[in-house]
Amino acid sequence: MSSVDVVNVHKSFGDNDILKGIDMQVGQGEVVCLLGPSGSGKSTLLRCINGLVMPDKGHVAVGGSLIGRKVRDGKLHDLRGREASVQRERIGMVFQQFNLFPHLNVRDNLMLGPRAHRLAGKAELEEKAGLLLNKVGLGNRADAYPSQLSGGQQQRVAIARALMMEPELMLFDEPTSALDPELVGEVLDTMRSLAEEGMTMIVVTHEMTFARGVADRVVFMADGRIVEDARPGIFFDNPETERARSFLRLV
Ligand code: ADP
Ligand code: MG
Repeated sequence: MSSVDVVNVHKSFGDNDILKGIDMQVGQGEVVCLLGPSGSGKSTLLRCINGLVMPDKGHVAVGGSLIGRKVRDGKLHDLRGREASVQRERIGMVFQQFNLFPHLNVRDNLMLGPRAHRLAGKAELEEKAGLLLNKVGLGNRADAYPSQLSGGQQQRVAIARALMMEPELMLFDEPTSALDPELVGEVLDTMRSLAEEGMTMIVVTHEMTFARGVADRVVFMADGRIVEDARPGIFFDNPETERARSFLRLV
């Protein structure tokens, strides 16, 4: 069974056709690296998958439920407000910018989302935050504020924060692009262990070593379309299209 189904997704902004009919399936526990030149529509596709952007045409389903829509009285309705945000929380998203709350310590950054939605009691959430901080190697930094952490540590906190909601899918949009080179490895290691635990992941990245070593599949986009969809060994060693070959020469 697919965990993510993207079916004929189109999206335009004004006169610009950004996604021109995207079809993509991701299986449970699969790790897909989404590669492609800047402007090819990768971030827009991730935003369609978690419901931040609604496609103009086509649809996305995660774990069998339509994103951003529900069926009522035999008709499709757009989800709004709280319903939409509750659905979005089933999907973790990590951005290039870590977006931690600067006035909250690490523990409270983790606890804010779930507490706001009254999913569990304070003690339970605190325990869960502690476990997740251990998992990302920051068990001893729960009382630190974001400004006291390196970029790599902040990004690992952002990953732990996303995991607090027990997402069925994690989306990463260039999670290491804002980091100093020496801090990239620790974030990729955290993502690699998440992948090894069986998390379903879609990762937009320019880290080709990560894509080759961790991804089950590489999906290569250019100009709003999927141009190649292959196992990493095949994509990197034997790309089918000139478009992919010229991309790979530049990275
Ligand atoms: P990528 O992540 O592959 O670099 P994006 O999905 O961010 O590509 O963007 C593709 C194009 O869509 C860019 O030219 C960008 O300017 C445009 N775009 C993205 N989001 C919006 C928006 N909300 N409004 C207008 N244009 C947008
Ligand atoms: Mg982008």
